[in-house]
Amino acid sequence: MKNLILDIKYYLLFLLVVLAAFYLYLNFGINFNKNYSPEIIADASFRDQITLNENQDKKIFKGALSKKIKVDKNDTLIKILSSNEVESRYIKALIKTKGSEKLANIKTGDFVEIAFSENRIPKEIFVTRNGLKGVLAEFKDKTYSIKNHERVPEVIERFASVTIDESLYQSALKEGISDSVIMDLVFIFGWDIDFVFDIRSGDSFEILYEEYFYKGEKIKNGDIKAARFKRGKKVFSAIRFFSNVSGTKEYFSTRGENVKKAFLRTPVEFSYISSRYNLKRKHPVLNKIRAHTGVDYAAPTGTPVRSTSSGTVSFIGNKGGYGKLIEVKHSEDYSTRYAHLSKFNPRLSNGSKVEQGETIGYVGQTGLATGPHLHYEFRVGGNHTNPLTVKLPDAKPISEVEKKEFFDHAIKMINRLDELFLKFYAEV
Ligand SMILES: [Zn+2]
Repeated sequence: MKNLILDIKYYLLFLLVVLAAFYLYLNFGINFNKNYSPEIIADASFRDQITLNENQDKKIFKGALSKKIKVDKNDTLIKILSSNEVESRYIKALIKTKGSEKLANIKTGDFVEIAFSENRIPKEIFVTRNGLKGVLAEFKDKTYSIKNHERVPEVIERFASVTIDESLYQSALKEGISDSVIMDLVFIFGWDIDFVFDIRSGDSFEILYEEYFYKGEKIKNGDIKAARFKRGKKVFSAIRFFSNVSGTKEYFSTRGENVKKAFLRTPVEFSYISSRYNLKRKHPVLNKIRAHTGVDYAAPTGTPVRSTSSGTVSFIGNKGGYGKLIEVKHSEDYSTRYAHLSKFNPRLSNGSKVEQGETIGYVGQTGLATGPHLHYEFRVGGNHTNPLTVKLPDAKPISEVEKKEFFDHAIKMINRLDELFLKFYAEV
């Protein structure tokens, strides 16, 4: 019995020693870390666990080493800085620095990035819209300097191979392709493929595109470098090429043809065809056989109407059953007509130059029309042609002088697509 009590005594003593050691660790362990392991202090996640000691003359900064704040309505730079642990003396110094009005000019949706040093100095304050371009305040030699700044991003190449299920958009999203890249893809192939009517499940595509990163964070999507679209048995390719001749970036097929056409597919976006080209149609207003020499696009009044190609306005005004009509002459051979408009682009008059895709007027129902729609005609050599089936002239192909350079590049890109395609499915 005596021995047992003795044992318990030793046991309690042991427990006391353990507790004392733990207590010492809790109280002095922090200082140990601070003095001898600066690299641990530099770790932001560890830093969060440190409790402030009143005796310390310098406070240890609590929180992340860098912050990124999205500007909200009614935010001011000063408000953002002071609510994000920037001491007022630094804010005062900033205000007095030349160029501070540039830095303070923040808008809803901008980002304010603050990078603190170890001793809590806001060393860099960067105001940016897109994460790359902006205004930077830098603290050096006890003072700030403010200037426009552009970061150099890292460009990462990405590859995706997608087989379309029900919708191109959903299938692409599932593969992690972002909206803007999908839009680019549709834009590049939109001249050859009608993405509303032509796409079937089982169609597929491969794309090689760029993404921009800065310090490991994705900033934005870049361009599509090369793409291949398989629609049924047809294969369409597009290779990006920077032309020294035109000074622009364009996409060409592997044969050097411009993916763009001289004419847009439709003069109205987001519409549907309500009446096709038909030489024996019964006119809905006149109620007798009257050739329908164009295509009707149903769209609400006020929908912008765009010129399908660049050219010169050869008629603008009222013309019988056409109502408000614009005719654009594109070359000796080609012209287009846009009828039943509610109004014209006020800039335009006879002889005005228009660009491809430029808004020339707005959908209406002037003249002989039962409802708001655009009547669109395509004329070749002064004769009506079916705009939906006419073989459209191409935009300029690759220039003679750059042909060799382009084909060398195109072969490289196609080989790269093939190589990544094989790798992609070998890994799946
Ligand atoms: Zn019509």
